[in-house]
Amino acid sequence: MAETIFSKIIRGEIPSHKVYEDDHVLAFLDIGPLSRGHTLVIPKQAVKTVGELSDESAAAIGRVLPRLCRAVQKVTGCEDYNILQNNGAPAHQAVFHVHFHIIPKPNAEEGLGIVWKPGKLENGAELAREIQEALESESR
Ligand code: AMP
Repeated sequence: MAETIFSKIIRGEIPSHKVYEDDHVLAFLDIGPLSRGHTLVIPKQAVKTVGELSDESAAAIGRVLPRLCRAVQKVTGCEDYNILQNNGAPAHQAVFHVHFHIIPKPNAEEGLGIVWKPGKLENGAELAREIQEALESESR
């Protein structure tokens, strides 16, 4: 994978406002926050999408994410927040190194705005079975 600006942040070659670091994970403030406290949580493993993460990196992020959310809630005094995670340019990914956004939602104007247009679930049983089978073939 081509190196991104986040690899340089991990190596300390460009500055960031770090809030957390362990062997597998780094968290720092987003440079273009949607609201106060907007934080990015990234694996040190340099891959583009969640599906490419090692189990170890994924587990490390999962372990610390709730703690980071609580810290952001405490400091901002904002109870409500979104976790955003984009995979691929059409899905709004701009930096091609996996990252999770923690975005406080203090009011209707600040934080993440979402346009959500629900469709109608078609052939749900068949679709669910296909996904189950894909999961089973992966673990074989
Ligand atoms: P995404 O659209 O999910 O790829 O979001 C990328 C995020 O990275 C944006 O919210 C940017 O503001 C943020 N970002 C880009 N460069 C930096 C940087 N040097 N330090 C902190 N955040 C950054």
